[in-house]
Amino acid sequence: MIPPIASRFVAGETAAEALDHTRAVNRDGVKVILNLLGEHYHERGPADEDTEAYLRLVEDIDGSDLDACVSVKPSQIGIDVGDDVFEENLGRICEAAAERDQFVWVDIEDATTTDATLDAFERWAREYPGQVGLALQANLKRSHDDIERLADVPGKVRLVKGAYDEDPEISWKQKEAVNRSYRELLSYMFEHFDDGEIAVGSHDPEMLDHAKELHEEYGTDFEIQMLMGVRDDTQRELAADGYEVWQYAPYGAKWFSYFYRRVRERKENLTFALRAVVGR
Ligand SMILES: Cc1cc2nc3c(=O)[nH]c(=O)nc-3n(C[C@H](O)[C@H](O)[C@H](O)COP(=O)(O)OP(=O)(O)OC[C@H]3O[C@@H](n4cnc5c(N)ncnc54)[C@H](O)[C@@H]3O)c2cc1C
Repeated sequence: MIPPIASRFVAGETAAEALDHTRAVNRDGVKVILNLLGEHYHERGPADEDTEAYLRLVEDIDGSDLDACVSVKPSQIGIDVGDDVFEENLGRICEAAAERDQFVWVDIEDATTTDATLDAFERWAREYPGQVGLALQANLKRSHDDIERLADVPGKVRLVKGAYDEDPEISWKQKEAVNRSYRELLSYMFEHFDDGEIAVGSHDPEMLDHAKELHEEYGTDFEIQMLMGVRDDTQRELAADGYEVWQYAPYGAKWFSYFYRRVRERKENLTFALRAVVGR
């Protein structure tokens, strides 16, 4: 069982628990993106196992009345084994989801995997138009070229600031530079993308305000995505205000390192965790 200290950020150890969480979150008008925790598999066995787990999850979602979809990590379904393994496994998940009219998100990982991730995404987004989405990192300098390529692909893009510590030659390191890049990429998306192809993956009020202003200017529809346990009240408020809000909710037995990352990245998360330990 996930200890209460971690259950703010992780939706349970099993798919059944994650679906229960989804039901509760849906009640507040917030939709859920489910991610089975797991990454960096260097052998085919675990990559195929997690692919099978996603196929079962897609079936479970289909058999429910939940507003949910899945998000997969490339290194979880085989990119470290071979680009072809990743592409094949992603194709299996996209096919199963598309048959059930469900959406599949592809997370983006460190910069060594960007090319192969974009290629696989493009292949399956063209095969299943409007059913597949890809995360793009504003901290990577190359994203300004990649966004032009993605504008022609019939899928969604989730713009995030970027969670990986990349080389300064290929990435912006200063917070302000990353924020500037985020704003520029978002502006490009609102100008060139179609309705429903833009996801703002950020907790930053400034980025959300920028998206709202761009929506006023261009009229393009967009959705907002935030992590489970981060600004949960804001997620509910935005949904009540009529925005399409998706909560990214990870689950699974490998919850510890994810939880540890969340606690380390922000002082108030650490305070929250310590309070839970001392019971105050
Ligand atoms: C749905 C989703 C999916 C993601 N997928 C990927 C991915 O595939 N690949 C990847 O590299 N990264 C991914 N990320 C992570 C992302 O790249 C950032 O590392 C992460 O979102 C932090 O950046 P931020 O935009 O939220 O703003 P930050 O720069 O971290 O914070 C900016 C401001 O946001 C507000 N804020 C942030 N956190 C909190 C909090 N806990 N409580 C209150 N206010 C807060 C504060 O006002 C803060 O000053 C994803 C993030 C989300 C939300």
